[in-house]
Amino acid sequence: MARSRRSTVVAALAGTPLAVAVLVGACSAGGGAGWTSGPTGGDGHPGPAQRMPVTRLTPLTEEDGYVPEGEGLELSAEVPALERLDPRLWAAVREAAAAAEAEGVDVVVTSGWRSERYQRFLLEAAVTTYGSEEEAARWVATAEESSHVTGDAVDVGYTDAADWFSRFGAEFGLCQTYANELWHYELAVEPGGECPPPAADAAGGA
Ligand SMILES: [Zn+2]
Repeated sequence: MARSRRSTVVAALAGTPLAVAVLVGACSAGGGAGWTSGPTGGDGHPGPAQRMPVTRLTPLTEEDGYVPEGEGLELSAEVPALERLDPRLWAAVREAAAAAEAEGVDVVVTSGWRSERYQRFLLEAAVTTYGSEEEAARWVATAEESSHVTGDAVDVGYTDAADWFSRFGAEFGLCQTYANELWHYELAVEPGGECPPPAADAAGGA
């Protein structure tokens, strides 16, 4: 009988804490979603550079449409997140927000236009958070599919504003397009029309 050679495999662990920006929630940096650390993993442990996805090498900025966790943009803000929205959508959102505010409901935009880089970053973070690309796709679309990247979607905040939009948004053509994202609105009907039922989730692109 042949003698088998035993080999010993030693797994060497780097021992470097992983710097992972965790996305809690959905398609946005607001409206129920947010970072628990900075977009570059800014907790002092950047990790090995060669392992870092390209989208994390430089911080996301206003030029990417980035909106920090828990923050909302006033509609008067002069930033790419708002300025690069589709003009028709942006006009409808401002009109709706004015009507809401006349009824005492303040409206902010927690996410608007996003750069492809920002969207890729959100998707990478969602894969980390949810553990699989399949589950992440329920919450964050690819840069190629996202209606935020094309400027065709806004996330409104905060809760009372999203609730107002759910009741009256259709008067301005604005509809909630995903059942699991109470804050995500797109132009989906003519003003005064009836919104179609929202898709279950963002697997089709949000
Ligand atoms: Zn959204």
